[in-house]
Formats: sequence, structure tokens, C-alpha cells
Amino acid sequence: MINITCANKLLDALIKTVDAPKPVKTDELYCGLDLGTAFIVLTVINGNGDPVACAYQFANVVRDGLVVDYVGACDIAATLKKNLEKVLGTELIHCAVAIPPGTEQLDGGAVKNVAESTGMNVVAVFDEPTAANLVINTQDGAVVDIGGGTTGISIFEHGKLVECIDESTGGTHFSLVLAGAKNMSFNDAELYKRDAAHHAEVLPIVAPTVDKVSSIIRSACRNREVPEIILVGGTSELSGIEGHIEKTLNIPVHKPHHPMFVTPLGIALGCRLHMLEEANHA
Ligand code: ATP
Repeated sequence: MINITCANKLLDALIKTVDAPKPVKTDELYCGLDLGTAFIVLTVINGNGDPVACAYQFANVVRDGLVVDYVGACDIAATLKKNLEKVLGTELIHCAVAIPPGTEQLDGGAVKNVAESTGMNVVAVFDEPTAANLVINTQDGAVVDIGGGTTGISIFEHGKLVECIDESTGGTHFSLVLAGAKNMSFNDAELYKRDAAHHAEVLPIVAPTVDKVSSIIRSACRNREVPEIILVGGTSELSGIEGHIEKTLNIPVHKPHHPMFVTPLGIALGCRLHMLEEANHA
């Protein structure tokens, strides 16, 4: 069975840096830029792989994994980078990005171009589940990324990614259901849903949509041995969603701390690993 203690320690350390970036004495820093349907996140780790800074902003620049507002994405990424450089007192140079699996042709390099437009040097483009699994380290199991627009199921066997399925249904659908049930605007429902104090009330309201997510996971895993499931992505932040899915699927479900930050952190870890490997081969 997977042990997510190390992942939790790293994620806790990353979240602490949101309000209190760690002072850095070196410019050996590695960044991960994650462009999502709901958020753009920039993470920074140091040469030891320890998180030193993280900033994020709600954004509406990506749909179905594709950049639909290029200028908006560049502006937000540039602002996040500038703010972190100011607090860290150093320039951010090396960066990696990630895209949903299977979107290489459709993306056409747009995510990489957004990162490069900020002045950073993009050293690698990962697929999102590979980045997430650099934090989670599952050998055999499904990493389920419940994001804003979609749910992605990535099945790992012996540490290798063997199957990826991405289906529409994510936090946006939860917010739509909540908005209807509580007669709120979509934006108000988004904010209401994200407040942990409302989660006990929200979960039963969105339960049919959680069931839809469970049925997507069941169908994605039907031809594979999947001993356990690890939930990541912003929608997995909803308290109790893990228990609901576990009960429905009858498979052990694990949820790391701060699941929304798993992929962004993994991208920065991947940036560091990639550059260390390149240096070893040089
Ligand atoms: P996608 O993976 O679909 O491209 P994304 O990368 O933007 O989207 P995430 O950042 O992983 O997705 O998740 C965004 C979703 O998570 C949004 O729908 C947001 O409302 C939801 N979310 C974020 N924080 C919370 C929270 N505390 N409680 C419940 N939902 C949350």
C-alpha cells in the first residue's frame, strides 16, 4: 500500500511558502508553471528539492487543457513570476510546464510559449500525471486528478504510466450544481464551495456529480488491476469526497494534503530532476 507521508511533508512545506516564502541564498532554483482551467500556479523549489515559494491566481484562460486566452495567460504568469522574484530577491530562470496527456498536437506548444513569454527558460514539458506521480510515487494504482473542467485517471503499473483517460466532469460542474441548488451565481457558488467551512453542506448537494466522477473512474479502471486510488487536483480538496468515492468503488482511496498543489509541485520537482540528469550526461 502506498505511503504518502513524504508527499504530505513536501506539500505542507509548499503551502507554508505561499504566505512565507523561504529566503534563498542561491539562484539554483527550479520552477513549475501549471496552467489549469481554474488556476494558474507557479511553484519554486531549491537545489535540495525543498519548496521555497508558491503563488497562484484564479484564471479563466484554459479550457479542456488548451490555452484559450493566450495574452491573459501570459499576463498572469508574468505577474506571478514578478511577485515571487520580488519576495525571493532573485531572478527565476529555469522552469518546466505540463500539459494533459494526449494534447501535444492540440496544444501546439502554447503552454511552453506562455512560460517562455515571462522570460523563463523552459527545460521540459511533462504530461500532468507523470508530474503528479513525482510527488505521489505510486507503483501500482490510479492517480485520479479531479480538476476544474475534467477528471483524469492515470493508471500506473510497476511505476510506469500505462493508461490515461480524461473525461469532462470536474469542479466547474460541482459549482454549477451548487449554484442551481442554492440559487447563487456561478462565481458565488465557486467561492462558497471552496470554503472548507461549507464542505459538510456542499458534499450532499454535489453527491450526484461525485457519483458521476466515480463512474468515470470505474469505467477507466475496468480492464486493469487497480489496488488503490490516489486523489489529486483542486476538486479533491472537498472534504469527504475521498470517503464517498471509496464507498462507491470499494477500492482504498488515499488523499494527500493540499491535493490541488500535487501537480504544480511535481512540475517543479521534474524541472530539477531533468536538469540534474542533463548535467550528469554532460
Ligand atoms: P483542469 O485540471 O481541469 O485543467 P485545473 O488544473 O485548474 O483544471 P485544479 O486547479 O486542480 O484544476 O482544480 C480547480 C478546481 O478545484 C476548481 O473547480 C475549484 O473550484 C476547485 N477547488 C479548489 N479549491 C477547492 C476547495 N478548497 N474546495 C473545493 N473545491 C476546490
